[in-house]
Amino acid sequence: MTAPVRTRSSAELIRAEEPVLAHNYHPLPVVVARAEGTWVEDVEGRRYLDMLAGYSALNFGHRNPVLIEAAHRQLDLLTLTSRAFHNDRLAEFAESLAALTGLDMVLPMNTGAEAVESAVKVARKWAYEVKGVPAGRATIVVADGNFHGRTTTIVSFSTDETARSGFGPFTPGFRVVPYNDPAALEAAVDETTAAVLIEPIQGEAGVIIPDDGYLTAVRELTRRAGCLFIADEIQSGLGRTGSTLAVEHEGLLPDVLLLGKALGGGIVPVSAVVGRRDVLGVLRPGEHGSTFGGNPLAAAVGSAVVGLLETGEFQRRAAEAGVLLRDGLAALVGRGVLGFRSRGLWAGVDIDPAIGTGREISERLMREGILVKDTHGSTIRLAPPLTITDEELRSALDALEKVLAA
Ligand SMILES: *Cc1c(COP(=O)(O)O)cnc(C)c1O
Repeated sequence: MTAPVRTRSSAELIRAEEPVLAHNYHPLPVVVARAEGTWVEDVEGRRYLDMLAGYSALNFGHRNPVLIEAAHRQLDLLTLTSRAFHNDRLAEFAESLAALTGLDMVLPMNTGAEAVESAVKVARKWAYEVKGVPAGRATIVVADGNFHGRTTTIVSFSTDETARSGFGPFTPGFRVVPYNDPAALEAAVDETTAAVLIEPIQGEAGVIIPDDGYLTAVRELTRRAGCLFIADEIQSGLGRTGSTLAVEHEGLLPDVLLLGKALGGGIVPVSAVVGRRDVLGVLRPGEHGSTFGGNPLAAAVGSAVVGLLETGEFQRRAAEAGVLLRDGLAALVGRGVLGFRSRGLWAGVDIDPAIGTGREISERLMREGILVKDTHGSTIRLAPPLTITDEELRSALDALEKVLAA
Protein backbone atom coordinates (compact mmCIF):
# COMPACT_ATOMS: atom_id res chain seq x y z
CA MET A 1 0.00 0.00 0.00
CA THR A 2 1.33 3.45 -0.82
CA ALA A 3 1.36 6.08 1.89
CA PRO A 4 -1.25 8.83 1.49
CA VAL A 5 0.16 11.94 -0.18
CA ARG A 6 0.31 14.62 2.49
CA THR A 7 0.70 18.13 1.31
CA ARG A 8 -0.71 20.18 4.18
CA SER A 9 -0.62 19.98 7.96
CA SER A 10 -3.73 19.81 10.16
CA ALA A 11 -3.35 23.49 11.06
CA GLU A 12 -2.99 24.46 7.39
CA LEU A 13 -6.04 22.43 6.40
CA ILE A 14 -8.15 24.02 9.16
CA ARG A 15 -7.06 27.47 7.98
CA ALA A 16 -7.75 26.55 4.35
CA GLU A 17 -11.36 25.66 5.16
CA GLU A 18 -12.19 29.00 6.69
CA PRO A 19 -12.71 31.12 3.53
CA VAL A 20 -14.23 28.41 1.33
CA LEU A 21 -16.39 26.22 3.58
CA ALA A 22 -19.75 27.36 4.97
CA HIS A 23 -19.46 27.85 8.72
CA ASN A 24 -22.46 25.74 9.71
CA TYR A 25 -20.30 23.59 12.01
CA HIS A 26 -17.68 24.29 14.67
CA PRO A 27 -15.58 21.13 14.58
CA LEU A 28 -12.97 20.21 17.17
CA PRO A 29 -9.53 21.14 15.81
CA VAL A 30 -8.63 17.61 14.70
CA VAL A 31 -8.20 16.68 11.03
CA VAL A 32 -8.88 13.00 10.54
CA ALA A 33 -7.17 11.28 7.64
CA ARG A 34 -7.79 7.58 8.25
CA ALA A 35 -9.58 5.25 10.61
CA GLU A 36 -10.11 1.67 11.59
CA GLY A 37 -12.50 0.17 14.11
CA THR A 38 -12.75 2.46 17.12
CA TRP A 39 -9.67 4.52 16.21
CA VAL A 40 -9.09 7.48 13.96
CA GLU A 41 -5.75 8.99 12.96
CA ASP A 42 -5.07 12.60 12.11
CA VAL A 43 -2.89 14.05 9.35
CA GLU A 44 0.18 13.97 11.61
CA GLY A 45 -0.43 10.35 12.61
CA ARG A 46 -1.83 11.06 16.11
CA ARG A 47 -4.39 8.44 17.14
CA TYR A 48 -7.71 9.11 18.86
CA LEU A 49 -10.37 6.84 20.31
CA ASP A 50 -13.64 7.76 18.62
CA MET A 51 -16.26 8.09 21.38
CA LEU A 52 -18.80 9.76 19.07
CA ALA A 53 -18.95 7.32 16.15
CA GLY A 54 -20.43 9.79 13.69
CA TYR A 55 -23.47 10.36 15.93
CA SER A 56 -24.11 6.59 15.72
CA ALA A 57 -23.52 6.37 11.96
CA LEU A 58 -20.47 4.25 12.83
CA ASN A 59 -22.09 1.76 15.22
CA PHE A 60 -20.12 -1.09 13.65
CA GLY A 61 -16.82 0.79 13.73
CA HIS A 62 -14.87 2.58 11.06
CA ARG A 63 -14.40 0.54 7.91
CA ASN A 64 -16.03 -2.55 9.38
CA PRO A 65 -14.50 -5.33 7.25
CA VAL A 66 -17.82 -7.06 6.52
CA LEU A 67 -19.41 -3.80 5.38
CA ILE A 68 -16.36 -2.66 3.40
CA GLU A 69 -16.31 -6.00 1.62
CA ALA A 70 -20.01 -5.73 0.74
CA ALA A 71 -19.43 -2.22 -0.60
CA HIS A 72 -16.36 -3.22 -2.61
CA ARG A 73 -18.19 -6.17 -4.13
CA GLN A 74 -21.11 -3.96 -5.11
CA LEU A 75 -18.84 -1.19 -6.49
CA ASP A 76 -17.54 -3.73 -9.00
CA LEU A 77 -21.03 -4.73 -10.13
CA LEU A 78 -23.54 -1.90 -10.10
CA THR A 79 -23.81 1.36 -8.17
CA LEU A 80 -26.89 3.25 -9.39
CA THR A 81 -29.95 2.58 -11.49
CA SER A 82 -32.47 5.09 -10.14
CA ARG A 83 -35.88 3.63 -9.35
CA ALA A 84 -36.82 3.95 -13.02
CA PHE A 85 -35.56 0.36 -13.17
CA HIS A 86 -35.40 -2.43 -10.62
CA ASN A 87 -32.03 -3.38 -9.19
CA ASP A 88 -31.11 -6.82 -7.96
CA ARG A 89 -30.19 -5.71 -4.41
CA LEU A 90 -33.30 -3.89 -3.29
CA ALA A 91 -35.62 -6.84 -2.63
CA GLU A 92 -33.19 -8.41 -0.18
CA PHE A 93 -32.62 -5.11 1.61
CA ALA A 94 -36.34 -4.50 2.08
CA GLU A 95 -37.10 -8.12 3.05
CA SER A 96 -34.30 -8.27 5.61
CA LEU A 97 -35.06 -4.85 7.12
CA ALA A 98 -38.78 -5.62 7.41
CA ALA A 99 -37.95 -8.95 9.07
CA LEU A 100 -35.44 -7.35 11.46
CA THR A 101 -37.91 -4.70 12.62
CA GLY A 102 -41.09 -6.77 12.57
CA LEU A 103 -42.82 -4.32 10.23
CA ASP A 104 -44.12 -4.88 6.70
CA MET A 105 -42.83 -2.40 4.17
CA VAL A 106 -39.79 -0.26 3.49
CA LEU A 107 -39.48 3.13 1.81
CA PRO A 108 -35.75 3.60 1.12
CA MET A 109 -34.33 7.11 1.30
CA ASN A 110 -30.85 8.52 1.92
CA THR A 111 -30.51 10.89 4.85
CA GLY A 112 -32.31 10.88 8.17
CA ALA A 113 -34.04 14.16 7.43
CA GLU A 114 -35.45 12.67 4.24
CA ALA A 115 -36.84 9.73 6.17
CA VAL A 116 -38.56 12.15 8.58
CA GLU A 117 -39.90 14.27 5.69
CA SER A 118 -41.16 11.13 3.98
CA ALA A 119 -42.91 9.98 7.15
CA VAL A 120 -44.59 13.38 7.54
CA LYS A 121 -45.92 13.10 3.98
CA VAL A 122 -47.03 9.50 4.41
CA ALA A 123 -48.75 10.25 7.74
CA ARG A 124 -50.66 13.17 6.25
CA LYS A 125 -51.75 11.16 3.23
CA TRP A 126 -52.78 8.29 5.51
CA ALA A 127 -54.79 10.74 7.62
CA TYR A 128 -56.73 11.99 4.58
CA GLU A 129 -57.20 8.69 2.78
CA VAL A 130 -57.60 6.21 5.63
CA LYS A 131 -58.54 8.13 8.75
CA GLY A 132 -60.74 10.67 6.94
CA VAL A 133 -59.27 13.93 8.26
CA PRO A 134 -60.69 16.88 6.23
CA ALA A 135 -58.34 18.03 3.46
CA GLY A 136 -55.49 20.27 4.64
CA ARG A 137 -56.28 19.85 8.35
CA ALA A 138 -53.94 17.03 9.42
CA THR A 139 -51.75 17.69 12.45
CA ILE A 140 -48.68 15.92 13.76
CA VAL A 141 -47.80 16.05 17.44
CA VAL A 142 -44.11 16.27 18.34
CA ALA A 143 -42.10 16.75 21.53
CA ASP A 144 -40.26 19.68 22.98
CA GLY A 145 -36.47 19.36 22.64
CA ASN A 146 -36.80 17.16 19.57
CA PHE A 147 -34.19 16.71 16.90
CA HIS A 148 -35.43 15.28 13.62
CA GLY A 149 -33.16 16.97 11.08
CA ARG A 150 -32.57 20.25 9.31
CA THR A 151 -35.02 20.76 6.45
CA THR A 152 -37.41 23.71 6.47
CA THR A 153 -40.39 21.55 7.46
CA ILE A 154 -38.44 19.78 10.18
CA VAL A 155 -37.06 22.97 11.75
CA SER A 156 -40.64 24.26 11.65
CA PHE A 157 -41.35 22.05 14.66
CA SER A 158 -37.95 22.31 16.33
CA THR A 159 -37.83 24.11 19.69
CA ASP A 160 -34.15 24.99 19.27
CA GLU A 161 -33.99 28.71 18.41
CA THR A 162 -30.55 28.37 16.82
CA ALA A 163 -31.93 25.76 14.43
CA ARG A 164 -34.97 27.89 13.51
CA SER A 165 -33.99 31.52 13.71
CA GLY A 166 -33.89 33.20 10.30
CA PHE A 167 -35.31 30.22 8.42
CA GLY A 168 -39.03 31.01 8.41
CA PRO A 169 -41.75 31.07 7.21
CA PHE A 170 -42.40 27.67 8.67
CA THR A 171 -44.57 24.73 7.70
CA PRO A 172 -47.82 24.62 9.68
CA GLY A 173 -49.55 21.53 11.00
CA PHE A 174 -47.41 20.63 14.01
CA ARG A 175 -48.18 20.72 17.72
CA VAL A 176 -45.37 20.68 20.24
CA VAL A 177 -45.90 19.12 23.68
CA PRO A 178 -43.46 18.52 26.56
CA TYR A 179 -41.48 15.29 26.20
CA ASN A 180 -42.10 12.50 28.69
CA ASP A 181 -45.56 13.84 29.56
CA PRO A 182 -48.38 11.46 28.54
CA ALA A 183 -51.12 13.82 29.81
CA ALA A 184 -49.87 16.72 27.65
CA LEU A 185 -49.73 14.37 24.68
CA GLU A 186 -53.24 13.16 25.32
CA ALA A 187 -54.49 16.77 25.48
CA ALA A 188 -52.86 17.63 22.12
CA VAL A 189 -54.22 14.65 20.19
CA ASP A 190 -57.61 15.12 18.53
CA GLU A 191 -59.54 13.99 15.45
CA THR A 192 -57.13 15.90 13.15
CA THR A 193 -54.07 14.08 14.48
CA ALA A 194 -52.31 12.04 11.81
CA ALA A 195 -49.40 10.98 13.98
CA VAL A 196 -47.33 11.39 17.07
CA LEU A 197 -43.67 11.69 16.08
CA ILE A 198 -41.11 11.20 18.83
CA GLU A 199 -37.60 9.97 19.56
CA PRO A 200 -37.76 7.04 22.04
CA ILE A 201 -34.63 8.62 23.53
CA GLN A 202 -33.79 12.22 22.65
CA GLY A 203 -30.19 12.11 21.46
CA GLU A 204 -29.30 15.66 20.49
CA ALA A 205 -31.17 17.00 23.53
CA GLY A 206 -28.56 15.23 25.69
CA VAL A 207 -29.57 11.55 25.66
CA ILE A 208 -32.84 12.22 27.45
CA ILE A 209 -34.46 8.93 28.46
CA PRO A 210 -38.19 9.11 29.22
CA ASP A 211 -39.66 7.43 32.28
CA ASP A 212 -40.50 3.75 32.01
CA GLY A 213 -44.01 3.50 30.68
CA TYR A 214 -43.93 6.67 28.59
CA LEU A 215 -43.49 4.88 25.28
CA THR A 216 -46.18 2.39 26.27
CA ALA A 217 -48.48 5.33 27.02
CA VAL A 218 -47.69 6.79 23.57
CA ARG A 219 -48.44 3.41 22.00
CA GLU A 220 -51.75 3.03 23.83
CA LEU A 221 -52.84 6.61 23.27
CA THR A 222 -52.11 6.57 19.52
CA ARG A 223 -53.94 3.26 19.18
CA ARG A 224 -56.95 4.57 21.09
CA ALA A 225 -56.98 7.87 19.18
CA GLY A 226 -56.60 6.15 15.81
CA CYS A 227 -53.41 7.96 14.84
CA LEU A 228 -49.95 6.73 13.96
CA PHE A 229 -47.02 6.31 16.31
CA ILE A 230 -43.88 7.30 14.40
CA ALA A 231 -40.66 6.49 16.26
CA ASP A 232 -37.58 8.32 15.06
CA GLU A 233 -34.85 5.76 15.79
CA ILE A 234 -32.34 7.32 13.42
CA GLN A 235 -29.88 7.69 16.30
CA SER A 236 -31.27 5.33 18.95
CA GLY A 237 -31.82 2.36 16.65
CA LEU A 238 -29.65 -0.42 15.24
CA GLY A 239 -27.95 -1.67 18.38
CA ARG A 240 -26.98 1.54 20.17
CA THR A 241 -29.07 0.98 23.31
CA GLY A 242 -28.39 -2.73 23.71
CA SER A 243 -31.30 -3.86 21.57
CA THR A 244 -32.04 -3.53 17.86
CA LEU A 245 -34.52 -0.74 18.59
CA ALA A 246 -34.88 1.50 21.64
CA VAL A 247 -38.66 0.87 21.67
CA GLU A 248 -37.92 -2.80 22.45
CA HIS A 249 -37.09 -1.76 26.01
CA GLU A 250 -40.85 -1.41 26.43
CA GLY A 251 -41.60 -4.36 24.18
CA LEU A 252 -43.61 -2.43 21.64
CA LEU A 253 -43.64 -1.65 17.96
CA PRO A 254 -44.55 1.70 16.44
CA ASP A 255 -46.65 1.95 13.26
CA VAL A 256 -43.81 3.70 11.48
CA LEU A 257 -40.13 3.47 12.28
CA LEU A 258 -37.45 5.85 10.98
CA LEU A 259 -33.95 4.55 10.53
CA GLY A 260 -30.79 6.14 9.17
CA LYS A 261 -27.27 6.83 10.37
CA ALA A 262 -25.92 3.30 11.16
CA LEU A 263 -28.05 1.84 8.37
CA GLY A 264 -25.40 3.12 5.95
CA GLY A 265 -22.61 1.35 7.85
CA GLY A 266 -20.57 4.55 7.97
CA ILE A 267 -20.04 4.22 4.22
CA VAL A 268 -23.00 5.73 2.37
CA PRO A 269 -26.08 7.64 3.51
CA VAL A 270 -28.93 5.15 3.84
CA SER A 271 -32.22 5.83 5.56
CA ALA A 272 -35.59 4.16 5.57
CA VAL A 273 -39.17 4.59 6.59
CA VAL A 274 -40.34 1.17 7.75
CA GLY A 275 -44.02 0.73 8.41
CA ARG A 276 -47.20 -1.20 8.36
CA ARG A 277 -48.55 -2.09 4.91
CA ASP A 278 -51.78 -0.12 5.40
CA VAL A 279 -49.69 3.00 6.10
CA LEU A 280 -46.86 2.90 3.53
CA GLY A 281 -49.40 1.43 1.14
CA VAL A 282 -50.93 4.89 0.65
CA LEU A 283 -48.05 5.86 -1.67
CA ARG A 284 -48.65 5.32 -5.36
CA PRO A 285 -46.25 5.76 -8.30
CA GLY A 286 -45.14 9.33 -8.83
CA GLU A 287 -46.25 10.65 -5.44
CA HIS A 288 -42.91 10.46 -3.69
CA GLY A 289 -39.36 9.46 -4.55
CA SER A 290 -35.64 9.97 -4.50
CA THR A 291 -33.03 9.56 -7.24
CA PHE A 292 -30.58 7.85 -4.91
CA GLY A 293 -33.03 6.17 -2.52
CA GLY A 294 -32.68 2.40 -2.69
CA ASN A 295 -29.63 2.50 -4.95
CA PRO A 296 -27.82 -0.83 -5.26
CA LEU A 297 -24.72 0.31 -3.35
CA ALA A 298 -26.88 1.58 -0.49
CA ALA A 299 -29.01 -1.57 -0.57
CA ALA A 300 -25.93 -3.82 -0.51
CA VAL A 301 -24.45 -1.96 2.46
CA GLY A 302 -27.83 -1.75 4.19
CA SER A 303 -28.39 -5.49 3.76
CA ALA A 304 -24.94 -6.17 5.21
CA VAL A 305 -25.78 -3.91 8.19
CA VAL A 306 -29.00 -5.86 8.78
CA GLY A 307 -26.93 -9.06 8.49
CA LEU A 308 -24.65 -7.87 11.31
CA LEU A 309 -27.66 -7.10 13.50
CA GLU A 310 -29.37 -10.44 12.81
CA THR A 311 -26.81 -12.26 14.95
CA GLY A 312 -27.62 -10.10 18.00
CA GLU A 313 -23.95 -9.89 18.87
CA PHE A 314 -23.70 -6.09 18.52
CA GLN A 315 -26.81 -5.55 20.61
CA ARG A 316 -25.41 -7.88 23.31
CA ARG A 317 -22.08 -6.09 23.21
CA ALA A 318 -23.76 -2.68 23.59
CA ALA A 319 -25.70 -3.95 26.59
CA GLU A 320 -22.62 -5.52 28.22
CA ALA A 321 -20.23 -2.65 27.60
CA GLY A 322 -23.07 -0.31 28.55
CA VAL A 323 -22.88 -1.65 32.11
CA LEU A 324 -19.20 -0.74 32.22
CA LEU A 325 -19.96 2.73 30.86
CA ARG A 326 -22.76 3.28 33.37
CA ASP A 327 -20.69 2.08 36.33
CA GLY A 328 -17.71 4.15 35.21
CA LEU A 329 -19.81 7.29 34.95
CA ALA A 330 -21.54 6.59 38.25
CA ALA A 331 -18.11 6.56 39.90
CA LEU A 332 -17.49 10.08 38.58
CA VAL A 333 -20.70 11.58 39.95
CA GLY A 334 -19.69 14.17 42.53
CA ARG A 335 -16.18 14.27 41.07
CA GLY A 336 -16.87 16.65 38.22
CA VAL A 337 -19.93 14.87 36.88
CA LEU A 338 -23.22 16.32 38.11
CA GLY A 339 -25.31 13.54 36.63
CA PHE A 340 -25.69 11.39 33.57
CA ARG A 341 -28.18 9.36 31.59
CA SER A 342 -27.20 6.20 29.78
CA ARG A 343 -28.67 3.25 27.98
CA GLY A 344 -26.46 0.72 26.28
CA LEU A 345 -23.43 2.42 24.79
CA TRP A 346 -25.00 5.84 24.80
CA ALA A 347 -24.63 8.47 27.49
CA GLY A 348 -25.30 12.15 28.08
CA VAL A 349 -22.99 13.41 30.82
CA ASP A 350 -23.62 16.70 32.63
CA ILE A 351 -20.28 18.18 33.65
CA ASP A 352 -20.00 20.67 36.50
CA PRO A 353 -20.01 24.03 34.64
CA ALA A 354 -17.33 25.26 37.05
CA ILE A 355 -14.94 22.82 35.37
CA GLY A 356 -15.74 23.91 31.85
CA THR A 357 -18.26 24.02 29.05
CA GLY A 358 -18.98 20.87 27.09
CA ARG A 359 -16.83 22.31 24.34
CA GLU A 360 -13.88 22.90 26.67
CA ILE A 361 -14.16 19.41 28.12
CA SER A 362 -14.29 18.00 24.57
CA GLU A 363 -11.11 19.91 23.64
CA ARG A 364 -9.32 18.68 26.76
CA LEU A 365 -10.39 15.11 26.05
CA MET A 366 -9.14 15.53 22.48
CA ARG A 367 -5.71 16.38 23.83
CA GLU A 368 -5.92 13.11 25.80
CA GLY A 369 -6.66 11.23 22.58
CA ILE A 370 -10.42 10.87 23.10
CA LEU A 371 -12.98 12.34 20.69
CA VAL A 372 -16.40 13.29 22.03
CA LYS A 373 -19.00 15.94 21.22
CA ASP A 374 -20.73 18.41 23.48
CA THR A 375 -24.46 18.95 23.14
CA HIS A 376 -25.87 21.81 25.19
CA GLY A 377 -24.04 23.83 27.83
CA SER A 378 -21.87 21.51 29.86
CA THR A 379 -23.26 18.22 28.59
CA ILE A 380 -21.14 15.84 26.57
CA ARG A 381 -22.38 12.84 24.69
CA LEU A 382 -20.66 9.48 24.56
CA ALA A 383 -21.57 7.03 21.80
CA PRO A 384 -18.59 4.88 20.84
CA PRO A 385 -18.67 2.23 18.13
CA LEU A 386 -20.36 -0.90 19.50
CA THR A 387 -17.12 -2.73 18.72
CA ILE A 388 -15.29 -0.92 21.54
CA THR A 389 -13.36 -3.19 23.91
CA ASP A 390 -13.59 -3.02 27.70
CA GLU A 391 -10.01 -1.79 27.80
CA GLU A 392 -10.70 1.03 25.33
CA LEU A 393 -13.81 2.05 27.22
CA ARG A 394 -11.85 2.10 30.49
CA SER A 395 -9.18 4.28 28.90
CA ALA A 396 -11.87 6.77 27.81
CA LEU A 397 -13.32 6.84 31.34
CA ASP A 398 -9.81 7.26 32.80
CA ALA A 399 -9.19 10.19 30.45
CA LEU A 400 -12.47 11.77 31.53
CA GLU A 401 -11.54 11.31 35.18
CA LYS A 402 -8.16 12.94 34.52
CA VAL A 403 -9.68 15.89 32.66
CA LEU A 404 -12.27 16.45 35.40
CA ALA A 405 -9.62 16.31 38.13
CA ALA A 406 -7.21 18.71 36.40
C1 LIG B 1 -29.37 12.63 12.93
C2 LIG B 1 -30.80 12.56 13.16
C3 LIG B 1 -31.73 12.92 12.17
C4 LIG B 1 -31.31 13.52 10.85
O1 LIG B 1 -30.46 12.70 10.11
P1 LIG B 1 -29.58 13.32 8.93
O2 LIG B 1 -29.01 12.10 8.24
O3 LIG B 1 -28.52 14.16 9.57
O4 LIG B 1 -30.48 14.10 8.06
C5 LIG B 1 -33.07 12.76 12.44
N1 LIG B 1 -33.49 12.27 13.61
C6 LIG B 1 -32.63 11.92 14.60
C7 LIG B 1 -33.17 11.37 15.88
C8 LIG B 1 -31.27 12.06 14.41
O5 LIG B 1 -30.42 11.75 15.40
